[in-house]
Amino acid sequence: MNKPMIPAAKPIIGDDERRAVDRVLASGMVAQGPEVAEFEKEFSAQLAGSRECVAVNSGTSGQHLGLLASGVKPGDEVIVPSFTFAATANSVAVIGATPVFVDIDIDTFCIDPSAIEDAITDRTVGIQPVHLYGHPAAMDRILEIAKKHSLFVGEDAAQAHGAELNGQQVGTFGQWAMFSLYPTKNMTSGEGGMVSAEGPEIARTLRLLRNQGMEKQYANEIPGLNNRMTDIHAAIGRVQLTKLEEWTKRRQELAAHFDANLQGVVVPKVADGATHVYHQYTIRIDGASAQERDRFAQALREEHGVGCGVYYPTPVHRLPAFELELDLPNTEKAAREVLSLPVHPSVSDADRDRIVEAVNAVATAGA
Ligand SMILES: *Cc1c(COP(=O)(O)O)cnc(C)c1O
Repeated sequence: MNKPMIPAAKPIIGDDERRAVDRVLASGMVAQGPEVAEFEKEFSAQLAGSRECVAVNSGTSGQHLGLLASGVKPGDEVIVPSFTFAATANSVAVIGATPVFVDIDIDTFCIDPSAIEDAITDRTVGIQPVHLYGHPAAMDRILEIAKKHSLFVGEDAAQAHGAELNGQQVGTFGQWAMFSLYPTKNMTSGEGGMVSAEGPEIARTLRLLRNQGMEKQYANEIPGLNNRMTDIHAAIGRVQLTKLEEWTKRRQELAAHFDANLQGVVVPKVADGATHVYHQYTIRIDGASAQERDRFAQALREEHGVGCGVYYPTPVHRLPAFELELDLPNTEKAAREVLSLPVHPSVSDADRDRIVEAVNAVATAGA
């Protein structure tokens, strides 16, 4: 194999971002300041249906503060999918609350709404669905269940900037929603997160929690943390925000091409009314064992120079951090069978054709 490797992910950071950082450094004001305030407004207008947004230092911090703002306390239960990044459950567990893991829908990889009601107990306070890979969770049904049982909904939109369900943006369904701005996500600020809030009360609580519980300096109203975003990071994020739409279009274009041309693998389905933003383009090797899937991935990398990733090889409930024995068959199936192909905007048409050829060749070889 002497073809250059097509990377599984590739943050695009260029001269515009460098100039923006320079501008902040030259100003001498680098901590949270005017850039963060502008970034919050611009992000809100573009990605959160004009809901008030609060910038923080990571997506995980964002969901931690969201859960605290929703009043989650030790001993409470919050329903989460197990097929996700550990942060979804970590943010619940570090509060001393219990993440209650439920199964996913195998077609969308998102939490299965019909599994949620069975998991509700008298300690359940909320549901934290994940818009996994950039596909919106079934928010209409989830909100209905939440309303019926008086639960809050907090959205994990870490991977889903710009995704929609029935024309409504993710990040505008829950009491709050968290977007991650980590470098491999659809846009980045270096590290960072953005939390959209349903109303001014949640937004104010998020702002207090982010900054030691203070609105006025040294008049701390509640115990809080320092989860502030710096103006340096916000400046990067503001530039990235202006490019996101074009990048998302390219992701969707690549995905449509893969959908039409891949053979011998299960391509990702899109639910009725959903707009997928393809943080990942995730196929399934139907019926494969984890070893067979890993061999498929190895062949793509080593024989064809196609970078690929497995998100996520171990369901969160089985990680050493949680170590639970649960019967979540779709979660287990997904963990064995998924494989994500490069779908980032740096993938050229030539790369795209190589990816299709490689997957079809490996699928035909019956790896
Ligand atoms: C990335 C990610 C997070 C955490 O975001 P960070 O910015 O890395 O803290 C949470 N949930 C999901 C599903 C993610 O992909």
